[in-house]
Amino acid sequence: MSLPDRPRPDLDRDSTPWWEAVRRHELLLQRCDGCGTLRFPPRAVCGRCRSREAGWVPALGTGRVASWTVSHQVFMRAFADEVPYAVLHVRLDDGDGVFMYGNLAGTNPAEIEPDMPVEAVFADVDHELALVQWRPR
Ligand SMILES: [Zn+2]
Repeated sequence: MSLPDRPRPDLDRDSTPWWEAVRRHELLLQRCDGCGTLRFPPRAVCGRCRSREAGWVPALGTGRVASWTVSHQVFMRAFADEVPYAVLHVRLDDGDGVFMYGNLAGTNPAEIEPDMPVEAVFADVDHELALVQWRPR
């Protein structure tokens, strides 16, 4: 029995530069040109100062587990061979209130602890797509 194709990210005007960087194994954050606030996910307007001007800066690639979920059920058949898997919500070391998410890599979901230090790693799906994952450090 073959699995159905996995869903792919739906790139838009705001997120395309981020996904292109991830494909190059670079982790970026959007930074507001008006007030310097770092933000993720990418979006058109700053939530702090409402500026529409923003650029991209390299992220440190490290953080701590703020929250997580572990899927034991097969909610999508395309991921049936992955369960159980964990998705982490990571508080980045780049600044207060900057979070990123991604699957856990390199360890069993049962090993996750609150505030666990993690680092970003890149998982190549194919030649057009890579994903950010997080592993313990
Ligand atoms: Zn701003």
